[in-house]
Amino acid sequence: MHELSIVMGIIDVVTEYAQGAPVKEVTLDIGCLTTIELFAFDMAWKQAIKGTLLESAALDINRIEGKAMCLECGEEFTITEVYDACTGCGSHLIRIAQGKELKVRSLIIY
Ligand SMILES: [Zn+2]
Repeated sequence: MHELSIVMGIIDVVTEYAQGAPVKEVTLDIGCLTTIELFAFDMAWKQAIKGTLLESAALDINRIEGKAMCLECGEEFTITEVYDACTGCGSHLIRIAQGKELKVRSLIIY
């Protein structure tokens, strides 16, 4: 399961930051254009934090909507899929500006 390996990676990063202190809250940025399935992510999270510093941490997920800019006409628009076309001219030559984030935004330790 791809979500589980992502969760494990996040736990590694957070554990390193926390330096042995129990974690109270973790806020993640997860872009809407990532392939992460939130339900699976949540399941994996609950399983993986057992016995770690994150065991009692509250998880806050900050969803970042997909935004792109058209390289043909310069239009900036919201996208829900990486392969969406420009809403202005229909071109597929777009640059994704945001929505592919996957990172730890902040954490609170005790
Ligand atoms: Zn365009």
